[in-house]
Amino acid sequence: MKVKQFLAIILMSLCGITSAQAQTQIIAHRGYWDKLGSAQNSLSSLENAIKFGAYGSELDVWITKDGIVVLNHDETYQGVVIQTATYAELSALRLVNGEPIPTLQQYINIAKKQNKTKLIVEIKSHYTAEDDRRAARETVRLINESGIAGMVDYISFSEHVCKELIRLNPKHRVAYLNGEKSPATLKAEGYWGLDYAWNVLKEQHPEWIKEAKALGLTTNVWTVNNVERMQYFISQGIDYITTDNPQLLRGLLTE
Ligand code: MG
Repeated sequence: MKVKQFLAIILMSLCGITSAQAQTQIIAHRGYWDKLGSAQNSLSSLENAIKFGAYGSELDVWITKDGIVVLNHDETYQGVVIQTATYAELSALRLVNGEPIPTLQQYINIAKKQNKTKLIVEIKSHYTAEDDRRAARETVRLINESGIAGMVDYISFSEHVCKELIRLNPKHRVAYLNGEKSPATLKAEGYWGLDYAWNVLKEQHPEWIKEAKALGLTTNVWTVNNVERMQYFISQGIDYITTDNPQLLRGLLTE
């Protein structure tokens, strides 16, 4: 072992941290979209996140009536309800940068060309529990068949989605978004981590980051866009910060 590596490990163990959690990682919220020519949940936002070298690029997915997993944040796009539309109906629509609404398969095809930036796949809450489970199963099928399971973390507000993901494979990395479950409950239910709103982790339950870490759960916070909050969560040793401003966060992390 080189002297420098040895000293680094000694230093980290004195500080009570391991290399796996030594530094907060950057997740680009809805991709790195805040750049000229891009749009939230677009293929270009994923390409930007990869070029930037983010730990992860977050995306929101729904399943259409005819079983295609597509990206969109809201329940509707330009008045069309994603979950009750066919893919053909959606394919005519354009994002603000002119791109069509991407499919998850198109996202996967870009993600699999590299091995640094993970997909942080948020499966949205559909009208029925069965559609939540159907969306979870189809998302997992596409990811597994593409051979990028190791590059994907799952997140959801829906317990139906999360339970189905954990049932399909207890090793799926599933983090819960909704903010009301304690770390102990998440651990008992087979979750990999928590991914809570900044006010939950800073104001309502500031003790949950430490509790989660002690239980071996990962910790992620959304959506943190200002310096003061970024600095707070970095000081708490949070594993991931989900942000619309990856460049600002990187600046703080490399200070
Ligand atoms: Mg999302």
